[in-house]
Amino acid sequence: MLRTIAGFDRIGEENAFAVLARATTLSSQGRDIINLGIGQPDFKTPDHIVEAAIKALKDGHHGYTPATGILPLREAVAADVEKRTGAAVSPDNVLIVPGGKVTMFAAILMFGEPGVDILYPDPGFPIYRSMIEFTGANPVPVPIREENEFAFSAEETLSLITPQTRLLILNSPANPTGGVTPSGEIEKLVEGLANHPQVAILSDEIYGQMTYDGEAHVSLMEFPQVRDRVILLDGWSKTYAMTGWRMGYSVWPDELMDKARKLAVNAWSCVNAPAQFAGLAALTGPQDEARAMVEEFDRRRKVVVDGLNAIPDISCRTPKGAFYAFPNIKATGWKAKALASALLEEAGVAVIGGPDFGILGEGYIRLSYANSTENIQRALERIGNFLSGSQ
Ligand code: PLP
Repeated sequence: MLRTIAGFDRIGEENAFAVLARATTLSSQGRDIINLGIGQPDFKTPDHIVEAAIKALKDGHHGYTPATGILPLREAVAADVEKRTGAAVSPDNVLIVPGGKVTMFAAILMFGEPGVDILYPDPGFPIYRSMIEFTGANPVPVPIREENEFAFSAEETLSLITPQTRLLILNSPANPTGGVTPSGEIEKLVEGLANHPQVAILSDEIYGQMTYDGEAHVSLMEFPQVRDRVILLDGWSKTYAMTGWRMGYSVWPDELMDKARKLAVNAWSCVNAPAQFAGLAALTGPQDEARAMVEEFDRRRKVVVDGLNAIPDISCRTPKGAFYAFPNIKATGWKAKALASALLEEAGVAVIGGPDFGILGEGYIRLSYANSTENIQRALERIGNFLSGSQ
């Protein structure tokens, strides 16, 4: 018997990948599957970004780069964050990472150990809890409630902080709910955090540029009171349709930056060099395609929400950000994971059961509207037919 550390008995997964694998298998068997499961834009990376990677390869950028990333890219990230949040960011505090997920891995590894509380959103991105469990820290779910429009409640979050709390994970706009926490609530949270100076904040803002109906995204970087303990998680995957490039970045406070850099040196040396040049082109080049993508998501969002609300026993709030709808399916009498599985196997629609995002996810399913309007309409029709038994 090979004995690994106990963390591997506790580490979890992201079920969206298992659903994707199953959907792909069914498709390869000739089934017509509509995939509203995986959270990635259905658009191609804009051409000028792809061209920048090709050029970098042709220009001979084949070697290691500094562990934190090439300087022009870190400068571009710092300038972009500064433009969007008003925070003066030094390129020395920017770490280029192989995908946004790596920032949560690094931050949770940095703070988690037995005896420590880490607060995370429930329902929320499943890797938060998985990584907290891996470290042996105590996962403390912060409830994200439908009746609160799937926003964080500052009061409830603050009430869960103990002297053992070392890290608070926030995510707005949110996966899986599409919830956007309003500025007033974030201000209240920041105010309350003044009483808990030992708490670092991992702010996952990967969907920060995807908000709708004029809803403003408020970044934790906007608050000088807490900036010296905010780890900003962001990246290229969603904004520029670059999930497969594995390009993300984080901004670290001075106190933590060298630790993050050392982790990079130990774990991945640096991010793929041509991809970094692609990332640079994304930030410094034209933004029209990225903007058009958000406008298209907005149109589909309305189709999804209207379509879901037209199905008896399903009700869906209008998500204000990201590209997910999180309808309430309690009145159907189905358990969420059973419904997700039946929809895939019997109706040919891949969605994710809410419990894959936490305990409070029961009674909900997640639909990603990163698919064509036509496919979304066909999927909604199939879901409606399935639930009415007229399959
Ligand atoms: N954070 C959230 C909330 C996400 O939904 C995702 C991806 O689905 C990530 C981070 C990770 O993004 P990346 O693909 O850049 O690792």
